Amino acid sequence: MIKINIVGGGLAGCEAANFLANHNIKVKLYEMRPLKNTGAHHTDFLGELVCSNSLKSKSLDNACGLLKEEIKNLDSIIMESALKNEVPSGNALSVDRDNFAKYITDKIKNNKNIEIINQEIENFNENEIYLICTGPLTSDKLVNKIKEITKQDNLFFFDASAPLILKDSINMNIAYKKARYDQGDDSYINCPFTKEEYLNFYNKLINAKLAMIHNFDKNYFEGCMPIEVLAKRGIDTLRYGPLKPKGLETEKYPKPYAVVQLRQDNLLGDLYNLVGFQTNLTYGEQKRVFSMIPGLENAEFVRYGLMHRNTYINSPILLNEDLSLKTNQNLIFAGQLAGVEGYVESAACGLYAAIKLYQKINNIDLSFPKNTMLYSLIFYITNGNGKNFSPMNANFGIMYGVNKKNKLEKANESINSIKEFKKELNL
Ligand SMILES: Cc1cc2nc3c(=O)[nH]c(=O)nc-3n(C[C@H](O)[C@H](O)[C@H](O)COP(=O)(O)OP(=O)(O)OC[C@H]3O[C@@H](n4cnc5c(N)ncnc54)[C@H](O)[C@@H]3O)c2cc1C
Repeated sequence: MIKINIVGGGLAGCEAANFLANHNIKVKLYEMRPLKNTGAHHTDFLGELVCSNSLKSKSLDNACGLLKEEIKNLDSIIMESALKNEVPSGNALSVDRDNFAKYITDKIKNNKNIEIINQEIENFNENEIYLICTGPLTSDKLVNKIKEITKQDNLFFFDASAPLILKDSINMNIAYKKARYDQGDDSYINCPFTKEEYLNFYNKLINAKLAMIHNFDKNYFEGCMPIEVLAKRGIDTLRYGPLKPKGLETEKYPKPYAVVQLRQDNLLGDLYNLVGFQTNLTYGEQKRVFSMIPGLENAEFVRYGLMHRNTYINSPILLNEDLSLKTNQNLIFAGQLAGVEGYVESAACGLYAAIKLYQKINNIDLSFPKNTMLYSLIFYITNGNGKNFSPMNANFGIMYGVNKKNKLEKANESINSIKEFKKELNL
């Protein structure tokens, strides 16, 4: 009987293992935790959510909402667990993170077709099939092996996030609401600097202590460059970038020297993020330096900015549409490592890879429905621009024939196609 090796018991790996095992294919699931950690996981559970507990919107006219509905219809274990462990969060699907991961772990452990092996995979046996789902924090040894096999040198970049603060802790005697050039609603909160305040802040920012991540200055996305790195390019760089004061003048502040904008971060409107402030400063330094922003002197930080490695391969160049490597079809990539971005996207990608593998093993030649969000994502990562490929999340821009007005109609068509596909595959 054929046995499939799945490497990585995260969202993509669990989704793939569950699907294959439930369709009578024996799986060996290799997970290196708890023997070796990634630096971001906090438990020994499979399917752990490393950061937010939200799987985003539940609406069908939202791209991630549609993707969730599609994989739910394909018996996704991630969706099954999420719905069983949901916590209230408006229109988003949020979960109790420990119960969510525990549910998945128990299901995988109790599946007689899955053998869990706690081991770090560093190499692949010839003639065996591997589904590689080791995620954005794939271990160094395996990254080196993948580099060797794919003959690609730059496998990772750094991603960064900005801090979040409590709205109630913003001093609205200084800060004010206004949209730039009064275009759009006034949902932004602005913190204005005088020249003296800006220079003082600038000097503290460029000399602040960094968290222990090396080499990120060579390997970040230009679009999410840490604020302190941008600042070091020149004293006025921030004033022409994220701290641009133009269009934010008011009667009280006719000529601000620089302005930090805060954007609403959650539906409740009690959390705001600092726009453009993705950072690699230590938490203590973020509190010290960012509290110098006028209006944020008493800011309560509910989450600090964070820099993390994001490993992914150049899928448009390397992968076939079934996510197998063009140069070795026994090696299949899925999840964030294959170039999708996000929890649901990673899980969905694992499920897709498993379905294609199941079809191959059983000689079933049936195309995945092309009018779905899941196929659009896979098409994007396997046919996108290989010159400057970066990870992609679910969005309607990649789905053929969708416009602002017909999202819901297209979403319903997609769900129908998924149901039809499932029936034809006899799943
Ligand atoms: C710090 C951080 C925060 C993130 N926050 C969010 C967020 O809030 N929302 C969101 O939608 N997405 C977020 N992401 C992006 C992404 O959605 C998640 O990383 C997601 O878990 C990716 O799923 P995956 O299955 O590809 O990888 P993972 O879920 O990371 O699973 C990979 C598994 O492989 C194991 N592994 C690694 N190397 C080896 C090896 N050599 N041998 C055996 N096992 C190995 C790991 O231990 C891990 O369990 C975040 C990513 C990071 C790194």
